[in-house]
Amino acid sequence: MIEVQNKHIVVVGAARSGLAVASLLKRKGARVFVTDHSAIAENVKENLEQEQIPFEENGHTEKARGADLLAISPGVPTEAPLVQEYINAGKKVFSEIEIASWFNKGPIVAVTGSNGKTTVTNWLDHTWEKANREHITAGNIGHAFSDAVAQTTENTDALLEVSSFQLDHIDTFKPHVSLLLNVTADHLDRYKENFSNYAASKFRITENQTTNDWFIYNYDDPTITDYVNELQKKADAPRLLAFSNRQKPDESDGAFVRDQNIILKINQEEEVLMPISDVQLSGKHNLKNGLATALAARASEINNDVIRESLRTFEGVEHRLELVREANEVKYINDSKATNINAVWYALDSFNVPLTLILGGRDKGNDYSELVDQIRKKVHTIIAIGEAKPLIEEQLKTVVPHFKTAKNMNEAVRQAKKGAKRGEAVLLSPACSSFDMYDNYKHRGNEFKKAVNRL
Ligand code: ADP
Repeated sequence: MIEVQNKHIVVVGAARSGLAVASLLKRKGARVFVTDHSAIAENVKENLEQEQIPFEENGHTEKARGADLLAISPGVPTEAPLVQEYINAGKKVFSEIEIASWFNKGPIVAVTGSNGKTTVTNWLDHTWEKANREHITAGNIGHAFSDAVAQTTENTDALLEVSSFQLDHIDTFKPHVSLLLNVTADHLDRYKENFSNYAASKFRITENQTTNDWFIYNYDDPTITDYVNELQKKADAPRLLAFSNRQKPDESDGAFVRDQNIILKINQEEEVLMPISDVQLSGKHNLKNGLATALAARASEINNDVIRESLRTFEGVEHRLELVREANEVKYINDSKATNINAVWYALDSFNVPLTLILGGRDKGNDYSELVDQIRKKVHTIIAIGEAKPLIEEQLKTVVPHFKTAKNMNEAVRQAKKGAKRGEAVLLSPACSSFDMYDNYKHRGNEFKKAVNRL
């Protein structure tokens, strides 16, 4: 932690978390200036004015230079020239969660990974609610840690969704419990197209953890287990808990599945938690998410009765394999948040009925061939939308009996309806970002839902 009183601090990026950290630093007595390379939203400007925080928009002037340190929003890349100027001048650059953590009073439970962060963070929240445990839930999830931190006491657990961008600029951020769900290709544009750079930023979640802390990790992910082999050599490594829906982790404690039951192994003693059929959310990936949640709860001394109740009752999060409606015995599923190949793979894996798949948007350098096995088994019709149409056509047209394209979501849904038979499902799981046609994935998901509800 750095004393911020009277320090001159520039905050780069004035979206929700930028505003939150500026306001936190101002309250703590820093001299804060906010700068954004593009226009700042009117409501953010009003807030800054109210809090008497000076700011500039549409570019960085001299006012953004020469500060003691820089606080950056997750949307601002390390390569941005202003950030590079500070780094080259030997100045500290911190992310919003790093700064917020200086003012946090209780234990942190932090979730990261390429997919499943929001689901698990919400699942933790659900578990902590059931346990009646004092907590805040924040991070990437729509509520900045900097905003929530003022409410914390020594007894408040901070349940945080943490992206790799936030982890890129931590220094002393130290979760008591950290969870690494998976590391698969995503956001490589921010990591010089280098997978190891991206993976390394995820691993930073454990870098300040020591023997009294816990690291919960996916035992089925070889990138992660390679890292754990190294981590274990550290003298003060955190305690390890592994989760797997396929195999029993060799010697580590953790959670796994045997004979259709969830088994927890804590202090080398195995106990049967519950049958997997009692977990409300479907899909292998959600079983893994549930195992990770259960372990985080145990590491935080929440008992098995509460954990069982939580796994039985958690209903998932909007836009993630969300059942919108059943019409003429066809289920319509909104998985708009599936913005990479891995998420779509798990979505397809979770169905055992024939599917119509709506795919596309703005391509992120995807290799659609990774989906071919699943598609051959389950999908009879692909409907491609958005900028990625030609790419998807090139890579997947010959894999399915029917390949179509659509101009917009309405047309896609109407075409899907025509081809879907009773007992089947229509799945929007796009593998792409939404920015070619929509404001964000929520907007895309809502348009899908509207179109489905009009049928
Ligand atoms: P994140 O916050 O990491 O983006 P979400 O919980 O929002 O993750 O889920 C994003 C997408 O990934 C959804 O389509 C969801 O169904 C899928 N998903 C959720 N958990 C996992 C997982 N453990 N592995 C792979 N895909 C997952």
